[in-house]
Amino acid sequence: PGKNVLIVYAHQEPKSFNGSLLKIAVEELTKQGCSVTVSDLYAMQFEPRATRNDIVGEPSQNIPLSKKSDFSRGYNCPCLLLEMDDLPVESFPLFWFNMPAILKGWMDRVLVQGFAYDLSKVYDGGLLQDKLSLFSFTTGGSKEKYAIRGDIRYLLWPMQHGIMHFCGVKVLEPHICYAPENVSEEKRKEMLAAWSQRLKTLWKEEPIDCSPEWYFK
Ligand code: FAD
Ligand code: ZN
Repeated sequence: PGKNVLIVYAHQEPKSFNGSLLKIAVEELTKQGCSVTVSDLYAMQFEPRATRNDIVGEPSQNIPLSKKSDFSRGYNCPCLLLEMDDLPVESFPLFWFNMPAILKGWMDRVLVQGFAYDLSKVYDGGLLQDKLSLFSFTTGGSKEKYAIRGDIRYLLWPMQHGIMHFCGVKVLEPHICYAPENVSEEKRKEMLAAWSQRLKTLWKEEPIDCSPEWYFK
């Protein structure tokens, strides 16, 4: 209640399963009195490439984009939103054991040095320390297949630890909906209901212990 939530959403199709998860999150969190902002990356035509335009000053200095310089771009700048925000939720379908390129580009361009971290201010000392994050994603593969191939937590190491924890952000348990394309309509409804249910008590959750043991125990 009274929290600011930013949902960084990366799916092209509003009628997708991810689209339904998004709708539920917006409804439930708004109902709780949270202020919810959605960065719908595809709809915004978010530029995922950190191009030369992001470099302030001489290219050779390679100084990354400052928050201020992005405000002038005229779109709903995620940097600004993240700054105000208590909980960024990343919502996406798994692509190649990873997040879609457009979302990776968001990480590349928003979580810049001086804003999200600094040379000596990383991990628990990162600059975004009082924030929480949650990765909500869907897969093509079933839960059983993932259990055979190796724990899905391996995939979360670069995203949760390498990105969020690096910037000081605490990480809540990920929310994974396995294989929504390949399960029954009933099971899909169940997964959506479980998400809605989880969100009701989200603020009571403790962050995970984001250390190698959680991922590779
Ligand atoms: P959708 O196909 O949109 O939805 C599934 C079904 O749910 C649809 O029938 C839809 O109509 C239905 N639905 C939507 N809303 C509701 C509702 N409210 N109630 C009931 N039903 C509803 N998977 C892996 O596991 N590992 C990978 O490495 C991987 N790499 C990929 C790489 C690429 C480039 C691509 C394109 C896919 C990859 N995938 C991978 C598969 C991908 O992760 C899944 O296709 C995706 O997660 C499915 O989510 P979706 O939202 O797109 O589902
Ligand atoms: Zn960590």
